[in-house]
Amino acid sequence: MRVLVIGSGAREHALLLALAADPAVTALAAAPGNAGTAAVAEHPGLADPSSGTAVVDLARRWRADLVVVGPEAPLVAGVGDALREAGIPCFGPSAAAARIEGSKAFAKDVMTAAHVPTARSEAVDTPARLDAALARFEPPWVVKDDGLAAGKGVLVTVDYDDARAHAMTVLEAGHPVLLESYLDGPEVSLFCCVDGTDVVPLVPAQDSKRLGDGDVGPNTGGMGAYAPLPWAPTGLVQDVVATIVRPVAQEMARRGTPFSGLLYAGLALTSSGPQVVEFNCRFGDPETQAVLALLRSSFSSLLLATATGRLGSEPAPTWAEGSAVTVVVAAEGYPGRVRTGEVITGADADGVLHAGTRRREDGAVVSSGGRVLSVVGTGESLEEARTDAYRRLEGIKLPGAHWRTDIGLAAVEGRVAPA
Ligand code: AMP
Repeated sequence: MRVLVIGSGAREHALLLALAADPAVTALAAAPGNAGTAAVAEHPGLADPSSGTAVVDLARRWRADLVVVGPEAPLVAGVGDALREAGIPCFGPSAAAARIEGSKAFAKDVMTAAHVPTARSEAVDTPARLDAALARFEPPWVVKDDGLAAGKGVLVTVDYDDARAHAMTVLEAGHPVLLESYLDGPEVSLFCCVDGTDVVPLVPAQDSKRLGDGDVGPNTGGMGAYAPLPWAPTGLVQDVVATIVRPVAQEMARRGTPFSGLLYAGLALTSSGPQVVEFNCRFGDPETQAVLALLRSSFSSLLLATATGRLGSEPAPTWAEGSAVTVVVAAEGYPGRVRTGEVITGADADGVLHAGTRRREDGAVVSSGGRVLSVVGTGESLEEARTDAYRRLEGIKLPGAHWRTDIGLAAVEGRVAPA
């Protein structure tokens, strides 16, 4: 099978490594890819990953049997539709189904119709309605940008003035604001392959979205993750599939926009059970880097069965017994304005996945984005996986780089537990 992966982050590097380890895969391409993906995949070149015509042209030219779309933007722009119309199997939903991520208000509407537990919410589209709406919620306030904001459009705060100021910034940018009640409890990311009807869950993971150790500072695109979750209640995955993912898949199909691809349920385990924080329409970064490090069965077979509506006859995926931890190495300044063009050493080592990197003409790997690398460690226990990840990190040099030192630590110390 010839597989083309669209995207250029560490998530796509992880997808490519899982595909490279699969004997059924005969050729791999990444577009646009990065300095790290060049070691496992061809780079045929793609100017605009969000152009359906360009992706279809490339898939035909490269004779792809399957196209896997990593990021949300091409999916929301209809790249999945263009591929399907051209008769090319695509792992990734239609633009209509990708709205489950692209519009938080749409996601809320689907959840209400499917009777899926989630935070109470209210959309606000003018400053005149803002104060009255904020008054209908209690602190901590949860203020969201109702559009794609790469995980950075959300503010959770007990400070009313900060909540109001963030809402005003979003409104001034021309986006509606979504206010939500606060969901209290540890977070879980559950990735599910959905082929319109059938649902196959992967192992649950937890990411660390805040910038600093101890979960302080601003939200980021994700600073690290671990999988599986030693503290997860027995039956959690089956429970979430039955009460959340299947009802949502059924509701999407009922609306004539079946979801085919990766449905990512971002959950909070509250005292009244799992509730949905958000849905994403693609693999999450950095959880994918940890989850796929544990996959033992054929990844291409799972992706193709999802893309072609045959999940019902696909054997359940199998997983390594142990744990995986991924730590994101961020550039100086991240999540604000970052410094790029710094030379990185040690980036070609095993377990080092690339995100914001490029290879200079002299062969040096240089930084080109905010999240630069994801380092993945594995082990028989979460503690061993943590040790492995941080040991690998010692081999990397990037001036000004920073990372969290506590990924998975709270779980190792027994400080995470559902309410
Ligand atoms: P989102 O972009 O919706 O995933 O939100 C980003 C992060 O903000 C989530 O991973 C949570 O940590 C936090 N968050 C979002 N919505 C809520 C909520 N209703 N209650 C508590 N935390 C939330």
